[in-house]
Amino acid sequence: MAGSHQERHFAERIGWLRAAVLGANDGIVSTASLLTGVAAANAARSDILISGLAGLVAGAMSMAAGEYVSVSSQSDTEQADLAREKKELETDPEFELEELAGIYIERGLTVELATEVAKQLTAHDALGAHARDELGLTEIHTARPVQAALSSALTFAVGAALPLVVAWFSPEKSIISLVTVSSLAFLALLGGLAAKAGGSGILRGTLRVTIWGALAMAATALVGYLFGAVV
Ligand SMILES: [Zn+2]
Repeated sequence: MAGSHQERHFAERIGWLRAAVLGANDGIVSTASLLTGVAAANAARSDILISGLAGLVAGAMSMAAGEYVSVSSQSDTEQADLAREKKELETDPEFELEELAGIYIERGLTVELATEVAKQLTAHDALGAHARDELGLTEIHTARPVQAALSSALTFAVGAALPLVVAWFSPEKSIISLVTVSSLAFLALLGGLAAKAGGSGILRGTLRVTIWGALAMAATALVGYLFGAVV
C-alpha cells in the first residue's frame, strides 16, 4: 500500500519535471543559438544582448500561447465528454450501470462484486465514477490551461536567461565561445537530470540533448556568419 502511494507521487513529479526540463531546454537552445548567430554576424554587443532579450520574451510568450491553446482545446474536449456522459447517465442509467460494471469485470472483478461496486459508486457519485473509470479523467490529469501556460513560459524564460546572463558578463570577443560552452554545460546538466528523473540512461539522455543543442547553435552561428559576411 505505502509503495503504490509513493509511486503515484513519483509519477506526478516526473511529468512535471520533464515538462519543466523540456521548457528550459527550449529556452537555452533557442536563445543561445540566437546570441551566437547575431554575434557571428559581427553585431555590436548591445545588439547581441537586445536580440537575446527579445528572443527570451518572444519565446516565452509563444510557448505560453501555444500551451494555452493546446491545453484549452484538451479542456474543451474533456468538458464535452463530461457533458455527454452526464446526459447519458440521465437518459439511460441502466445501460450506464452495466457499462461501469463491465469495466470492473474487465479489470478482474467477479460479476457479482463488479455489479455491487458499480451500484455503490453510482449511488455515491455516478458522474465521478464514469469520468474516472470510463473516460480516464482524474483530478490530477485535469487540463489547466493557465497553469500550463504560465509554467511553460516560466521554464522557457529561466532556460533562456542562462545564456543571456553569460553573454551579459562576457567580453564582446568571447561571447560566442563562452555562450556556446556554458549553454552546452547547462544542456548536459538538464539532459542528465531529465534522464535520471525519467529512470532512463543518464549518458544517453545527456548526449542526446547536448548534440542537438550543439547542432542548433552551430547552424545558427553559420547562418549569422554568412549573413554578416554578405551584409
Ligand atoms: Zn458511461
